Formats: sequence, structure tokens, C-alpha cells
Amino acid sequence: MTENKRQFRAIKGTRDILPPDSALWNWFEQTAHNVFESYNFREIRLPIFEETELFARSVGAETDIISKEMYTFSIGHDADAKEEGASAQTYSLRPEATASVVRAYIENGMQTLPGNVKLYYVGPMFRRERPQKGRYRQFYQIGAEVLGQSDAPAIDAEVIQMLMTFFKHAGVTRTTLYVNSIGDKNCRPQYVELLREELRKVAGQLGPDSQRRIETNPLRVLDSKLPEEQPIIEKLPRISDHLCQACQEHFAKLKEELNLRGTACQENWRLVRGLDYYTRTTFEVIAEGLGSQNAVCGGGRYDGLVELLGGPPTKGIGFAIGTDRAILSIQESGKLPQLPGLAVFVAWMGQAAYPTAVNITRKLREAGLAVELPAEEMKFKKSLGLADKLRARYALIIGEDEVKAGSFTLKRLADSDQKKLSEFDLLEYLESERRDTRA
Ligand code: AMP
Repeated sequence: MTENKRQFRAIKGTRDILPPDSALWNWFEQTAHNVFESYNFREIRLPIFEETELFARSVGAETDIISKEMYTFSIGHDADAKEEGASAQTYSLRPEATASVVRAYIENGMQTLPGNVKLYYVGPMFRRERPQKGRYRQFYQIGAEVLGQSDAPAIDAEVIQMLMTFFKHAGVTRTTLYVNSIGDKNCRPQYVELLREELRKVAGQLGPDSQRRIETNPLRVLDSKLPEEQPIIEKLPRISDHLCQACQEHFAKLKEELNLRGTACQENWRLVRGLDYYTRTTFEVIAEGLGSQNAVCGGGRYDGLVELLGGPPTKGIGFAIGTDRAILSIQESGKLPQLPGLAVFVAWMGQAAYPTAVNITRKLREAGLAVELPAEEMKFKKSLGLADKLRARYALIIGEDEVKAGSFTLKRLADSDQKKLSEFDLLEYLESERRDTRA
């Protein structure tokens, strides 16, 4: 019998995030926790899979995400299926998380909580898209949502300010924030009809996708990136000229509120959403240096979604940041944050030195330093060579001489500067160095 020794590879569109990149990811996500918590948002942890129907209803059964890109599996006729009842025949890996946040909000009766409910989430999403740079089948998002009774423009402005503050702290700097208002159920239907009529007149000059969308979802024509359609789209009626009084006021106030917060933005009348429950504010952030997949965040108001999913009338606004792309943009900028890394490599020699090495390693780790203790004795040269290759900042040399003298030799690897220190002085020196590099 021949053994099958085929090597396994990560599935197309998925990837491993290896060290040292994983440290950058952790730092990026930690920065989001810090900034979002400072705006009094709290984390919600959600399931990775839900009933397919939840996504079909919220994201929209006709969208590409639902019709082509979901990973769906049947739950068969097992005990689970019986428990769920006939309504839940399939589950899907989540393609986005707003639907789950809203489901959790309703299921847990969160509308009874005081004030607006301000939640954020961090985690992987799944869409069977054609993989390319910045587009994956398992990708990561950090998102935030505000749910409650108010749709005051100050809420939208604060959400957007929080987003841009986070990008600034995380070093995603070469960005442009676009905002738009897509009206509400009073004014958008008339605009959509007007757009449809105008599009029918120029249908012959449009490509097949846009031609189809004239009837199914004319707003989506405005998303088109086809160069030959651009001059035609530029001449189409703009929603900003067709907003009702209340929507006009909401949008004007949003811009005023952003200005008050020093959050710079550009208006983009083509920033639309195709689904009915989206209302008024939409926004998007583009980052330089990412090629065609340059959107790092999308967001907007969705005042009808909670009701659509069976909950009480509720207003909502939120965004989702594409972590993969935001991190690519930090890497492309070349301005990586200084992350701590390996502080000390313990170069011990001789069995007499070993207990001292184990002891001091524990104390340094308790002081919050990253320390590498070789498991086996090594020759001095080899030990320092490995410390260098592991990019340790210091080698702590412990030989028989040091044990006898009750001291340590600390060698800074960048410039070979060497000092002899007592245990007390060593701990104090390294702790103060750690405070300085974190400052
Ligand atoms: P959406 O949920 O489609 O509004 O996307 C929000 C953000 O998620 C986008 O601006 C992207 O940054 C990111 N994103 C969406 N799909 C992908 C994907 N397949 N791969 C990587 N990032 C994605």
C-alpha cells in the first residue's frame, strides 16, 4: 500500500497570518478596542454561522453576496434540524456581521437598555469572491453599530469621527472619507423612478450589467467603474437635488457636526446602497496605494433593518472596516509602529548557571518582558549568534563567573555595549527601558 503523503495547502482565498505580521494585527485590533471603548462602545462576540435566511433577509437575497458568495451548508435531518424547525434548513458562514448584531439586539431585548446601544465586533467574514490582492474569501472586519430611538445627525457624526480617529491612531493615514445622503422612504422612491427613466433613454450606450440594473436596481448603476459609462453617469440626475426637506436638513446638520469635530470629508453623490432599509447617511473610506481594492471601510444608516428582522421600530447606523486592506495600507506606507518584540535572550553556560538562568527568566517575564531561554546549553558564540538572528535587544550572559560574583552581564546587541549589573539593577534597568520604548 502506498502512503498518501500529499502536502496540504490553505484553501484558495484563505491565508495564514504569520509572525511578525500577527503582532501588527494584534496591535491594530487592540487600537480599535482602545479607541472604540473611549467612545463608550462595548464589544459584542457573535457566532460565525447563522441561519441562511437571516442573511438573505438583511443583506438582500438578490445581492451578489447572497446569491453567489455565501458558504452554505445543510443541517440535514439530525436532532439540531428538528430543534430549529422547518424554517432553518441551512446555515451559512457569515458574509458580514450587521445582521448578527441586529439579531442579537432583538433576541436579547436590548431595546430596553438605557440610551443608545453602542456595539462593536472584531472577526472573520466569508465570501466566495474571486481572490486578488486585498480581496479574500476569509477576510476580517472590525465594525461598530449604534441602535436606538434617535437618528440625530450627531450620532452619525460621532460614529464617523470615531472611525477616522481610529484610522489616525492605527496609522492608516492616506485616506479620503466620502459621505452622501441617499434620502428616505419619502423621497428616494421618486428619485429612483426618475433615475430609471433617464437611464432608459441612454440604455443603448450602457454595458449589459448596467442595462439589467435599470430595471432591477437603478441606484447600482452609479457604482459602475466602466470607463465608457462614466461620462453618461456624470450627466444623470443627482439625489442631492431630490432630497425631501427633512433629509436635506439631516445631511446639512451631519456636515456641520463633522466640521465641528474637525473631521474632513468629501461629498460623493454616487455613494449609494441598493437596499430599501438604508436611509440618509452613507459613507466610505478609501486608502491610497491599494490598487482597485482600495475601500477600507463602508458604512451608513439602516433605519428599517431591525423591523425587517422582526424587532421593534429602531434606528441604526454602523460601519465595517476591512482589516486586511487597512493593514496592507499601513505596510505599503512603510510607517510601521514600533512593536516590542524579543527583549532578552538568556545566554547561559555551564550547568551551575542554569538554575540562575531559569530564575531570572521568570522574574523578567513577570516584569512584562519577552524572554527567550534556550532549553539546551550552547557554546557562547552560537548562543549570541542565535540571539542576533532572533532580533533580541539584549543578551543576558550568565556563566560560572557571573554566578560566583552574584551578577549578570547584559549586552545590548545593536552596539555591543556591555554592563555588569546586580539582579536588582538589572530588573530596574530593563523595566525602565521597557517603559521608554512603550511611551
Ligand atoms: P462591505 O461589508 O461589503 O460593506 O465591506 C466593508 C469593507 O470590508 C470593505 O470596505 C472592505 O475593506 C472589506 N471587504 C469586503 N469584502 C472583502 C474581501 N472579500 N476581502 C477583503 N476585504 C473585504
